[in-house]
Amino acid sequence: MSDCLFCKIVQGTIPARKVFEDEQVVAFHDIQPQAPVHLLVIPKKHIATMNDCEADDAALLGHTLLAAQQVAREAGLADNGYRLVNNCGKDSGQLVFHIHWHILGGEKLAGLNP
Ligand code: C5P
Repeated sequence: MSDCLFCKIVQGTIPARKVFEDEQVVAFHDIQPQAPVHLLVIPKKHIATMNDCEADDAALLGHTLLAAQQVAREAGLADNGYRLVNNCGKDSGQLVFHIHWHILGGEKLAGLNP
């Protein structure tokens, strides 16, 4: 998609600190880290949000999550764990409408429940 920021990162026309790339997925450092380790994992295919995924995307979504597992392990997060977050739509605060997962870790994260 020509005006999508993350498609531009996939194409290399916007720089990113990439940590992983294969035929279907790219992972890179978030430019505004919210934790000591904050990486983003995206499929190269433009899918705007979780709501836009279709049955045909099942293998790609599985592959993206396994790539996230590998990226987290290579970032040293496997032992202590990490949070994998997908924001979907307006109420979640999604800013970039190209589906992505945040990998957050490197410290004890605040719980989701008060
Ligand atoms: O899930 P959400 O859409 O809110 O998150 C988008 C993320 O993309 C933000 O954490 C932002 O810092 C990151 N970002 C980035 N590189 C860009 C633009 C946004 O890492 N060029």
